[in-house]
Amino acid sequence: MKSRTKAVVIGGGIAGCSTLYHLTQEGWTDVVLVERNELTSGTTWHSAAQVTNFGMNQTMVGLKTHSINLYKELADDPEYPINYHHGDGGIRLANTEAQMQGYHHFASMARGMNVEFEVIDAEECARRHPLISTDNLIGGLWDPMDGDIDPAQLCQALARRARKAGAEVYRNTPVTGLTQHKDDTWTVHTEHGDIDCDVVVNAGGYRVNEVGAMMGVHHPVASMEHQYFLTEEIPAIKEAGHRMPLLRCPISDYYCRQEKNGLLVGFYEQDCKTWGMDGIDPNFVNALCPDDLDRVTDVLEGAFARMPALMETGIHTVVNGPITYTIDGAPLVGPIPGKRNAFCIIGLRAGLGEGGGHGWMLAQQIVHGEACYDTWCIDPRRFTGHANVELTALKSIEDYQNEFRFHFPHEHRPAGRPAKTTPLTPILAAEGAEFTVVNGWERVDYIKPAPNFHHSLDFHFDATFDVVAAEVRNVQENVGLCEVNGFNRFEITGADRHQFLDRMFCGAVTKREGRVGLGYLLNDYGMVKGEATIANLPASDRGPERAWYGSAAASEYHDMDWLTAHITADEDVQIKSLTNDQTILVLAGPKSRDVLQAVSRADWSKEAFPWLSVRECFIGFAPATVMGVSFSGELAYEIHVPNASLYAAYLALREAGQEHNLQLFGARAVDAMRMEKGFMHWKADLITEFTPLETGLDRFVKVEKDDFIGKAALIAQSATGLRKKLVTLKIDATHAPAYGGASLMQGDNVVGTITSGDWGHRVGINLAYAFVDPAVSEVGSEMQLDHLGALVGAEVITPSPYDPTFARMRS
Ligand SMILES: Cc1cc2nc3c(=O)[nH]c(=O)nc-3n(C[C@H](O)[C@H](O)[C@H](O)COP(=O)(O)OP(=O)(O)OC[C@H]3O[C@@H](n4cnc5c(N)ncnc54)[C@H](O)[C@@H]3O)c2cc1C
Repeated sequence: MKSRTKAVVIGGGIAGCSTLYHLTQEGWTDVVLVERNELTSGTTWHSAAQVTNFGMNQTMVGLKTHSINLYKELADDPEYPINYHHGDGGIRLANTEAQMQGYHHFASMARGMNVEFEVIDAEECARRHPLISTDNLIGGLWDPMDGDIDPAQLCQALARRARKAGAEVYRNTPVTGLTQHKDDTWTVHTEHGDIDCDVVVNAGGYRVNEVGAMMGVHHPVASMEHQYFLTEEIPAIKEAGHRMPLLRCPISDYYCRQEKNGLLVGFYEQDCKTWGMDGIDPNFVNALCPDDLDRVTDVLEGAFARMPALMETGIHTVVNGPITYTIDGAPLVGPIPGKRNAFCIIGLRAGLGEGGGHGWMLAQQIVHGEACYDTWCIDPRRFTGHANVELTALKSIEDYQNEFRFHFPHEHRPAGRPAKTTPLTPILAAEGAEFTVVNGWERVDYIKPAPNFHHSLDFHFDATFDVVAAEVRNVQENVGLCEVNGFNRFEITGADRHQFLDRMFCGAVTKREGRVGLGYLLNDYGMVKGEATIANLPASDRGPERAWYGSAAASEYHDMDWLTAHITADEDVQIKSLTNDQTILVLAGPKSRDVLQAVSRADWSKEAFPWLSVRECFIGFAPATVMGVSFSGELAYEIHVPNASLYAAYLALREAGQEHNLQLFGARAVDAMRMEKGFMHWKADLITEFTPLETGLDRFVKVEKDDFIGKAALIAQSATGLRKKLVTLKIDATHAPAYGGASLMQGDNVVGTITSGDWGHRVGINLAYAFVDPAVSEVGSEMQLDHLGALVGAEVITPSPYDPTFARMRS
């Protein structure tokens, strides 16, 4: 066994084998995989091993395409062929129009990744799958690349190729401890000796938290018991003369694929069970949980009704094994929050299909610092403190129960709520708030017009359209108040903070006390990594001279990792998170100054406190820090208040607001208004796949600055011209907004991808942002949006169609 290597991957299931192989492909060949038993002896060996191309966003579709292409190549390797039923095709069934809308959207989104799904009707489903009945069926989504693979052969093939490239695999070698050294390198302690390395990877499957505990980390991953059975031969399958396509059913929660001349049917029952919550028997190896088909009778009936042939055949094997889930159903692939040189590839609930792609994403991040796709949807840092063991279990159960039911727009499921609240949450609930969930925070979405008002779960505009329109109108004409909780807030102190921030941002960073600036952080490749405001505060009884760094609600762990990684040893810079201590009350609208003036003893005139100012003050008697910034496009103030004083500040503002018709507004109104101003959302419009110039942020880039992270790469990339350009579009549809991921077409060519869409109530336009080919980025360029199954017109318009001179927010 080696005593030193570059990276040690812990775990020899699909996650570990794929990571090891891809590390060698990305150029790291001095790497090791350590497995406590035999390869695939965790979950992988008994997987149903279906391999689909279907994903909810372009990153997932892209990485699954990588799996499929890789598996095909491995299957066709004459030296070591493996069994892969490639391209049997698969159908996701639907019995509601809303599900069909979703399938149309996912097909539009996949088109931009060169993946063609087909939305088909019930008769066509039955024609392609001769065993199914069309009762209670409207249609489905056809994935031509669906198939299944032999999981053990797949892992052996990956390990074999990795070994050929120089990697080593140590079987029957349990990892017993992890020690990190001062220089951030690691020692991996095993039963057969220690291995020093630069990087460790947790690929421990259902033992993820045993490995996590060795580095003092709890990962938000829980295991569920999951069952499938295998049937005897079904004559109709043999007679069909072709392999049966796979089925996935959100109506009755089962999947089904052909196995020999019978079927394999797996279930996601409502009466489901977590597994291993109180520890896992060390001897649970190559093992299964006891069969328990009684538990799945609810979903079994649905499968029988859809495939009557199932009732006439025997079951010869039942498989019940642990499968891992996370709190949003997607895995955790990337850097472990708060750690250096530590990565994970865990929480894989569809690891056979996705594993090829996830290993590829992870190896790129380890070797190059970033992957070719934006990986936020799988980033382990996307949940912050609330993702504890109990909440993870609740969300895992809910996710398991809804396995094939995608989330509709604005759908927030009830388990594990309310996870993060402020003193205002019950007050706002009593005011009629409907809440949305942002990284666990309960945030007002809109104020319900009646207690029994509910928004519909589909892709069209619904009754909330008028509710949001009224909230926007009041902000435009009078003044609105909105709580923005969970907004990420760091306090940066130390004598070198300005030079540090100057290096982190690609544009000008204000150093002046009392001023606020917006800026962008790039990665080493010159792509957009983050967006933040910097507000410079003077020394006061609340602290020394300091900068407040503000960024998106979910970015806390991500931004903290990025910033702290770049403080040099000789720099005097300290960063402290205030995210859970401070909440923002946004006061927006032409009368917001009057309200602020009434509650705060200072001169709030335009001259004394112009746009982009910051000042410490009191709202009534509640200490507050006020910034003159606006996301709505109206005159607005962000009022940052410690949570202990939040209710007091709220009461003062509400009372002062009475004579100005102050009304509450929520996140939906904010989102609609920001679209009218050209303002962007981190990880919707701002992603690591594009430079700030491609994202239309030219005015925030100052290449003449001495240096900043990503400068050389940005200059080099820019010299080759823009690859895409972010534009604002007018969508010719009144029934539904455009959704992120949807494709823009010219004839048969995809010329762009939507990043955000919403109705602009003040301009009366269905607005969208999209990255499009430079050739169609000029104002007036016309194209078509592949929109929920229909092609509708889309035209590039000037950004910020509402108040393009920004006069209102500077007033
Ligand atoms: C019944 C069932 C059906 C499924 N069907 C499908 C499907 O159709 N399609 C699909 O894509 N997915 C499916 N899955 C899910 C898929 O099988 C898993 O996502 C995948 O196998 C997880 O792989 P892994 O490498 O993360 O974990 P594992 O396979 O569990 O591998 C983890 C490895 O880490 C090792 N390890 C743990 N601790 C240590 C330590 N301290 N030292 C050294 N080694 C250690 C373990 O021994 C183990 O070998 C199914 C799962 C189940 C249970």
